[in-house]
Amino acid sequence: MGKPKAVVNREVCLACGGCVSVCPEDAIMLVAGKAVVDKKGCISCGICVKTCPVAAISFEEVTK
Ligand code: SF4
Ligand code: SF4
Repeated sequence: MGKPKAVVNREVCLACGGCVSVCPEDAIMLVAGKAVVDKKGCISCGICVKTCPVAAISFEEVTK
């Protein structure tokens, strides 16, 4: 079973950049106006989840 990783709901993301600035691993970037998590870089710290003003980020089990 994979570790839960941060996943952005693109429908909800406002591209405010908050999660990008707080991620300690630089695992989030804005791509085409939406936040995207690099699952390989994400250490599942949860900071981005707490930071997002519109709750666009949640943890999901990722198997690869
Ligand atoms: S959970 Fe932590 S490491 Fe993963 S994307 Fe969010 S801030 Fe970055
Ligand atoms: S903090 Fe939330 S709304 Fe802002 S860019 Fe990240 S996912 Fe999108």
